[in-house]
Amino acid sequence: MAEEKQDKFVMNFEPTERPGRPPQEYYDEIKAKFAEQRDVRLGYRPPGTNNYRDLDGAMADLARDPYADDWAEREPIDDTANGDEVDVLFIGGGFSALLTSARLREKGVESIRIVERGADVGGTWYWNRYPGVACDVVAYDYLPLLDEMNYVPTRHYAQGPEIFAHCQAIATKYDLYNLAVFQTTVTETLWDGDAQRWNITTDRGDTMRAKFVVCANGTLAKPRLARIGGMERFQGHSFHTSRWDYNFTGHDLEQLGDVRVGIIGTGASAVQIIPNLGTHAKSVHVFQRTPSSIDVRDDWETSDEWAAKLDDGWQSKRRAKIVSKLREQADRKGQLRHGITREEKIRRQENNNIDQMMRIHTRIDDTVDDQATADALKPWYMLMCKRPCFHNDYLPTFNRPNVHLVDTQGQGITEIGERGPIFDGVEYEVDLLIYATGFEVQQTGIYNRIVGEGDVDLNDKYDSGIRTMLGIHSAGFPNMFIMGGYQASFQFNLTDLLQVQGDHIAYCISHARATGADTMDVTADSEEWWVQEVIAHRGKTTRNQECTPGYYNFEGQENRRQDGNYNGGFPAYIDHIADVEADMDAHFVFTTG
Ligand code: NDP
Repeated sequence: MAEEKQDKFVMNFEPTERPGRPPQEYYDEIKAKFAEQRDVRLGYRPPGTNNYRDLDGAMADLARDPYADDWAEREPIDDTANGDEVDVLFIGGGFSALLTSARLREKGVESIRIVERGADVGGTWYWNRYPGVACDVVAYDYLPLLDEMNYVPTRHYAQGPEIFAHCQAIATKYDLYNLAVFQTTVTETLWDGDAQRWNITTDRGDTMRAKFVVCANGTLAKPRLARIGGMERFQGHSFHTSRWDYNFTGHDLEQLGDVRVGIIGTGASAVQIIPNLGTHAKSVHVFQRTPSSIDVRDDWETSDEWAAKLDDGWQSKRRAKIVSKLREQADRKGQLRHGITREEKIRRQENNNIDQMMRIHTRIDDTVDDQATADALKPWYMLMCKRPCFHNDYLPTFNRPNVHLVDTQGQGITEIGERGPIFDGVEYEVDLLIYATGFEVQQTGIYNRIVGEGDVDLNDKYDSGIRTMLGIHSAGFPNMFIMGGYQASFQFNLTDLLQVQGDHIAYCISHARATGADTMDVTADSEEWWVQEVIAHRGKTTRNQECTPGYYNFEGQENRRQDGNYNGGFPAYIDHIADVEADMDAHFVFTTG
């Protein structure tokens, strides 16, 4: 059955040799072009995130939540005055909080409070409601808790509304709405060493108390804008993709018939949006800095027959199978490597990667009629330098007479006038300007100052390099857990990682409760062990130097080896967590009373 196919997407290229491949000079020329294109971009914007800015100042209005009907007034919560507290407080109400809460409920934890900026749970799936929003990870793997929820997604790739509804269903089933606080941003999380509790203050004047805090603020939560001169001058309407204004566009974009639309950015969000704009808007100008790689999207409706045959625990078995395949893949790679030099291994992997990219180029030539447009849509970098995209309607959209690609050839839009973006002396007049310029990446404590033992600010601690164990525990921040942050394993299916982290956090909290411990804090030695593990594995990558700038390589910035994800592989990450759980006393200091 089609649904039984695993996600075939390959992120790691095996060092196999393909018979009959072109001579090495062919690959070397392409690699030289990759380097040239990278340098073009770095010539326009030096490495780093400086060319992005927050939705603040004159652009603050763009941060407004367009999905909440109203601002729910409420009295501030004052736990300190009332002597109240919760056992576990989640900062953020997306999948991290939801699936960890489910595990905590299974272990008998009763008082759980989610504090969330949006007006509901869902995180990414609350905010991103743009037309065409969907997930590129197979839904049977991406949507968590399918066994527990007794739910089978309706498609191979779920669309945003279905995923958002699933988040709400989890919150209902696990009784998480009861204590949840929405439209509330945590501003400070302060450790009170005497009371051995966290004090959490918010932008609504709350002072909450919690025994355990989970930083569940997501990996791509804070929208960002490109830093563009004159953007506040623009006289038309504008919004960021994660704040879609359906009042302006109409629910089915039916109000765009007379509207000239401009969209800045061509990342994964824009790729899903642009085909819908092409169908409905009077005209669409797509302002591109770097093209995404667009592969086939192999989607289908879930068949009733297949769904009926799924046995109990089918999703857990599927996840276990994926991990065992990853183990096999790692073993096979180890064997293939045997007998060849490191240089030869890299050469073969790169050639395989280039083959894939050239297949993506061929697909563009086969689809896009105008050769200049086709050429401009070709990505010149290794696959996985930037987040790969999958769509069947994106490329054909550029054959529509009302859709125009403005290729800035790596420069980007640097100026916006009253009537629209300006490039190469031309002001492109638009009525609606959409910023598809992405999000700040993997920050712990966005909007929120976290201060642990001895008044140490987490950001100050991280100033000389991120320090955690497993990406989850940081010494001096007792009873605090971090989800989706750096030093954890990178997973294309983020919920695989979040599930493993959520299981571990529930294990830790349950362990502390069972042993009567009031606090738990990772030891300095265990933290150092993990920092060194991260450094050892990141030492192997040259991605930062060789890839075109993007958020996968910190926009081209050379950073400390420890300030990124753990690259030892997901199975190894899981094994390390299991080892830690098998000997908690070796890794944590527990205190009582
Ligand atoms: P991205 O950060 O991926 O994309 C931002 C885009 O803005 C890039 O194309 C960037 O170009 C462009 N840009 C920035 N500044 C300028 C400028 N001055 N002029 C022109 N273009 C500019 O954000 P997205 O919201 O698209 O995606 C974020 C992430 O969210 C994805 O990578 C993915 O992980 C997730 N996502 C997943 C989806 C899925 O499952 N299908 C769908 C949507 C999002 P450049 O490349 O040159 O930096």
